[in-house]
Amino acid sequence: MKRPIGIVFSIIIIAAIVIGYQIYNRFRPTVGRVARLRQYLADPDGHSEWMIRVAESCGASPFVAPTEGYIGFFWGDSFYPGHRHQGLDIFGPEGLGSTPVVAVYDGYLTRLPEWRSAVIIRIPDDPLHPGRQIWIYYAHMADAEGNSFIVPDYPPGTYEEFVSSGTLLGYQGNYSADPDNPTGVHLHFSIVKDDGQGQFMNELEIANTLDPSPYLGIEVNADRVGSQPAVCSE
Ligand SMILES: [Zn+2]
Repeated sequence: MKRPIGIVFSIIIIAAIVIGYQIYNRFRPTVGRVARLRQYLADPDGHSEWMIRVAESCGASPFVAPTEGYIGFFWGDSFYPGHRHQGLDIFGPEGLGSTPVVAVYDGYLTRLPEWRSAVIIRIPDDPLHPGRQIWIYYAHMADAEGNSFIVPDYPPGTYEEFVSSGTLLGYQGNYSADPDNPTGVHLHFSIVKDDGQGQFMNELEIANTLDPSPYLGIEVNADRVGSQPAVCSE
């Protein structure tokens, strides 16, 4: 009787160590990213070589950069156990409502009636996987109280408005849906899968999103990013 219980106990201990190590490894890069983000935010102009440039394309990549700024958090970063970031958080050098955000590719813009800070753009034909429809989601374009920084051309309730690559959509904000706890000023940018019925999937699940790296020509996959800031190296 003693031996099986000992084996089970050992397996539990080993499993706890393995899981603990995986959690530690998942969070370790995020801790480093917070430190460098603080450095950047303290003096954005002093770290201009860490920034991507709005509407610039990198090499032969199909998308232009959605905004100006430092990519502080990547696709796949973990902020708490079980969570993986579905997009990129790009922190502009200027304050609230002043860093421009643009369409990364030609497509059709929708802003649901209840969206204060977000728009989504339908791209009927994925440039990297022709025949597949994808969606580009942008969020945090409002202040803490929900006053929108999206340009007046795209009011709540806008459906399927054509926008060409580089079109100004709005400006970075800090909206979080909780006025007492705003985010830092940034753009959240993600590429969302289509459900096969012509609708975008739930953006909150990383499984419903795509790695933006090949679309931007910049390595932004949390599992592969190097130790240097993610900028165009072409
Ligand atoms: Zn984000």
